[in-house]
Amino acid sequence: MADQPHILVIEDHQPNATLVCDLLSFHGFRVSWAPDGISGLEMVERDPPDLILMDLQLPRLDGFELTRRLKSDPKTSHIPIVALTACAMISDAERAMEAGCDGYLTKPINTREFPHTIRKFLSVSTPENS
Ligand code: MN
Repeated sequence: MADQPHILVIEDHQPNATLVCDLLSFHGFRVSWAPDGISGLEMVERDPPDLILMDLQLPRLDGFELTRRLKSDPKTSHIPIVALTACAMISDAERAMEAGCDGYLTKPINTREFPHTIRKFLSVSTPENS
């Protein structure tokens, strides 16, 4: 299906990435996965997604810096970025918002609410609603 929203998951912890990607595929999203910040950046340039799920602690280029780069580039600044933060790390969530993330979700994710939450972030970012 051509109209499947495309989600890029940038997450270095493979079990987390697999869980998130499987869940999103199951709910009808097209999913790509990047295991580090530099690969994530390259994948955004090659095949711009409709939304990015961004882990913050990443090898090569962390999620804060990658978010700043994407949000300061006019070619990518419109792409919603949702940070994935560990539950205990409230300060990470605040830093993620300062870096330009549009929202954040805490890990471990709530598998039942997760797909709805992603759809909400997608619908608020569509041009007709902004
Ligand atoms: Mn990580």
